[in-house]
Formats: sequence, C-alpha cells, structure tokens
Amino acid sequence: MSKTINVLFLAAEADPFIKVGGLGDVSGVLPRELRACSNDDLKLDVRLVIPYHPAVKAENLRPMEVFFIRRGDTEIAVEAFETVIHGMPVYLVNGDPIRANGSVYSMDAKQDTEKYTFFSVAAMELPNHINWQPDVIHANDWHTSLSLYINLTKRWESGLKHVANVLSLHNMPFMGADASASLDAYGIKLAQTDLPEWARVLPLPLGLWASDAVVAVSPGYAGEVLTEEFGCGLHEFMSQRSETLSGILNGIDTTSFDPAVDKALSVNYNLDTLERRSENKELLQEKLGLQRDPNIPLIGVISRMDVQKGIDLSFTALKSMKRVNFQAVILGTGDPKLEDAATELQILFPDKIKTILKFDANLARQIYAGADMLLMPSRYEPCGLAQMIAMRYGCIPIVRAVGGLKDTVIPGETGFVFEKTHHMSLVGAIKSALKTMPDREKWQALQKNGMAKDFSWKVSAQEYLKLYQSLVK
Ligand code: ADP
Repeated sequence: MSKTINVLFLAAEADPFIKVGGLGDVSGVLPRELRACSNDDLKLDVRLVIPYHPAVKAENLRPMEVFFIRRGDTEIAVEAFETVIHGMPVYLVNGDPIRANGSVYSMDAKQDTEKYTFFSVAAMELPNHINWQPDVIHANDWHTSLSLYINLTKRWESGLKHVANVLSLHNMPFMGADASASLDAYGIKLAQTDLPEWARVLPLPLGLWASDAVVAVSPGYAGEVLTEEFGCGLHEFMSQRSETLSGILNGIDTTSFDPAVDKALSVNYNLDTLERRSENKELLQEKLGLQRDPNIPLIGVISRMDVQKGIDLSFTALKSMKRVNFQAVILGTGDPKLEDAATELQILFPDKIKTILKFDANLARQIYAGADMLLMPSRYEPCGLAQMIAMRYGCIPIVRAVGGLKDTVIPGETGFVFEKTHHMSLVGAIKSALKTMPDREKWQALQKNGMAKDFSWKVSAQEYLKLYQSLVK
C-alpha cells in the first residue's frame, strides 16, 4: 500500500480565485504540482485553504457546516466552503474579520492582523471538520505564519501528534503587525522565544520560530536573509537555525505562460517560429500609439510600483537616455508617487514612452511577447517571476544581481545583469543590450537560450516533496 502525506497549504491569495501579486501565482500552481508528484509509493494529498475575500471569484462552492471559534467573550462563526480545482480540494474560509475589509492586503494594519489571525485560527480548526488530518502545515509569508505558531503551541499544550511546520518565505520585510492582542483574544499565549524582543509579537517571526523548515523562494535569497543587508534584523536569529533554512526556486505556470498557445497574443510562436514574434511587437507598438518599426528597441517594464522593484531606477535611467533611440512601455500600479513619475515620463517623451497605470494581465502578456527587453532592477528580489516569464517569451531580461534574479538570469547567455543599485549601472546594462540587439544571431541566441530553459514547477515541486518526506519520517 502506498504511503500518504497530507499537506494543508495556506495562503492569503491563490490564482484563479484571487491574485494580487506573485504569491497568488505561486499558490495557484505549487499545490497542484505537488499533488502531481504522487507516485505508486507515495501519495501527496495537498489541499489549499485561502480566505474568502469579498473579491474572490469562485464557482461551484459547496457550503460546509458552520463552526464557531471563541474570541474573548464571544464566538465567531467560521463559514467555510469547499470546491475542487484540477482534482485538488480547496477550502475558502469566511467570517466577519474577513468580510470587514474588502482587499487582500489593506492599509489598515490592525484590521489585517485581525483578519489573518482569525484565518489562521479557523484554518487550523478546519481539518477537524473535514475528517482529514494534515501531516504538514505549509504556510506562506506573514499572513498565514500564525497557523504554524498555533500548530506548535497547541501541540505543546495538549500533547497532540507531531504535525510538521513549513514556511515559504517570499518576502522577509513584511512581518505583519503586533498580533499579541488578537492572539490573546483567541486564547493563544505568547511563548518564550529566542527571537529579538521587538519580533516576539509579529506573525512572520513567530512563524519562523515555529517552523521545522523555512524555505526561501530562491537559493540566492536563502543566503541573503542571513546577512544584515537583507535579514531585516533577524539575520542572527536565522543564522542560528540556518540548518532549517533552504532555498527552492519558484516556478511559473508554463501551461498558461506559453507563447505557443497564449490566447492574449495575436500571433503565437515557439522556438522554431521565433521570427513570427516581431509581428507581436509591431501590433503592440500600434496599440500603444508608438511608431511601428521592428528595428526600434522596445523596452518593457511590468511591475508593482514599489521602491523594492527599483522602478525609480528604471525611470531615472530612461529619462537619462534622451539621445538614445528606443521606445518603452511601462505597465504597473502601486505607490502614487511612482505612478506620477511614470506619467511624467510619458509627458516628457510622448513619442517614446507609454505609461499604463493599471493591472492588465493580457497587456502584460502582449508586452512579454512584443517587447525586446524587460527591466527588473530590484533592490531585493526573493525570487521574481516576471524575468522568468520574459525569458519564456523571448523577451530579454535586464536585471540586478540580487536574490532570485541572480539565480535565474545568466549574463551573456539569457540576459544582462548589473550589480549596483544605481541608475547608471542600469543604463550601462541597457546600453549593452542595445548594442547587442542589431547582431541578430547573437540576440536570437539569447532569446532561444531563455526560451529553452525549464522554469516549470516540476523541479521545485520535487524538492518540496523531498523536504516533506524528511519531515514526516
Ligand atoms: P512581485 O510578486 O514582487 O510583484 P513577481 O515578478 O514575482 O513580482 O510577480 C509579478 C507578477 O505580476 C508577474 O506575473 C507580472 O507579470 C504580474 N504583474 C505585475 N504588475 C502587473 C500589471 N500592472 N498588470 C499585469 N500583470 C502585472
């Protein structure tokens, strides 16, 4: 008989139910890729649980029996729903704290703390109501970290069976806000931890502390969180338990992100029909109101407008290239100051630069398939998906040598890499790319090398599988 490992996979967002950022991509694919790792000897029963945010899009939901959790003097109803996607059971958890604010991540730290504490408590109760018990709790980032803390402390209190804790670390600086009051309200005590004092009440550090294994989303980032520069004050704590830390690169959904079948594109292409790609470029130029000319280099920026992404460096770099013949398209939303700066660029260079301030998945795909290069000068980048999508579409990434960017883009083979967080360093890399582009053979070699890389989840899912196996011996 084959062995089964049950994994409860928790995340704040998961495509196709709701996606705000890269975490939504990851949680949308990794759990089902893990299930696909099942073989004759081992069954991986991974189940996903996410909050039923008001903006969630879901069909065929089956309401489960309502259950209650105690909060202070009252009881809060947990209204959970079940559905199945690609053969995987998915649970959506609702309740007053989740309804209270509409967005996945709001500007109100107190409300978010309450929402995700409720979600973590409810998710840890859920298995008792579905007649299924996990062997592994796999949380992601601060939002679901408290589930790990609850799992560990409950086990200590009541001597329950060992359930392993895994935390995927997608973004160290976002640790959540003081959760002591919320935890206290749910009757969860703060433990004596060896965390720095300021971190003892924050969800992410509590999750790190409670984890049997912490997985940074790239090997590069796993090394970086041990340093003062990227460790956000927890580098010493992380270094002390570095044997529990590893790095597993995120993948991309290669079925969805596939230029050969992508429905958002007017012209599909693959490695053997790469010459057809330029039709997408010309259509994109036309759509954006730029001069239609395959020989003018078209630079793409698809990014959250956040200083993390170094998007300000991209703007300064483009602004400084007054006398250079190029076109650029900037697609992104976020920090209003950065959005203004992007609009200002379009006003300064109306014939050269187009700015689109919205989240537009189809346009993003058209840019990956039409732009010649993509800028990603991130200040830090735990993994980064955009550079991998770009390579899959033959769009050459120009990235800073940091985190997952350093792990995925090979200078001179699949893209251009620069070191310093300075716009002139980026300008240098862009100019190298512009110089290379007219050499069609060299450029196509870069494109083809990137398109031939395997960025699917298959490799990473196998690594997670090995990790689970080591934890549930
Ligand atoms: P992060 O998660 O830090 O935002 P990633 O590179 O890991 O960055 O993932 C970003 C994802 O979101 C990519 O799939 C990218 O194409 C997409 N994206 C970012 N901004 C936009 C936008 N304005 N419109 C459409 N897709 C976007």
